[in-house]
Amino acid sequence: MLWILTAMKNSKSYLSLWPRIDQGWQRGHLSHALIVEGTPAKAYNLAMALSRQIICEGSGNSSCLCRSCSCEITRHPDVMRLQPEKERIRREALHMILQNINRPPLWSPRLVIWIEDAHRLTDAAQSYLLKSLEEPPPYVVFILTTDRSHGLLATVKSRCQLLRSEPDFEDGAQSFDPQQFFTEKELTRDEIIRFSYWARSQYRQRQSPSWLALWEASYQAYQHVNANGAVELVKEILRDAYEHAR
Ligand SMILES: [Zn+2]
Repeated sequence: MLWILTAMKNSKSYLSLWPRIDQGWQRGHLSHALIVEGTPAKAYNLAMALSRQIICEGSGNSSCLCRSCSCEITRHPDVMRLQPEKERIRREALHMILQNINRPPLWSPRLVIWIEDAHRLTDAAQSYLLKSLEEPPPYVVFILTTDRSHGLLATVKSRCQLLRSEPDFEDGAQSFDPQQFFTEKELTRDEIIRFSYWARSQYRQRQSPSWLALWEASYQAYQHVNANGAVELVKEILRDAYEHAR
């Protein structure tokens, strides 16, 4: 029996790359309506992992061989996926999917409605979606992927739990290299988030006001970049705070 125990110990959930989301899932803290935000590739990866986890009929481990885990996701009867073919997703296209939600899942514990590039839903389509988000059948889970959740109506967002598809930055704080950060030509929002987590971990270790100032500066930098502010300015401010702290 030992090998079975070993196998169980080594097997990981589909969500193991996203430890905090995995924990949320294990504890039953994930909502029935999820917005997965990130670049299309990253959002796809997390949405796929979530779908796999949700539809599994067995152990919920990525090595599971149950009927649902052995089935291609595109052929699975309980995963309805809307992939936009045009620039905007109209109400009619959404209706094709939503008309299925009143039938219980055929194989799995839940029925997954996965809408890709959800920011492309027209306002009318989003209003239509809202009704289903408000009173879904108990077995339905919505997954909306997007790289710009600001393109969604506030009423839709307020009914969803926002999940970021980035890998766990906090775990990456140990390997962060600030020197490299400052030589980066184009700073992205993700890199500033990573910087911010790193600055926070440094402050926690050192507990000095100058590291606290750096952490706060990185947080402001993030907000500044989010509001489409100049990245060069952000870099200068962070560099000053960094030089002062170390
Ligand atoms: Zn399974």
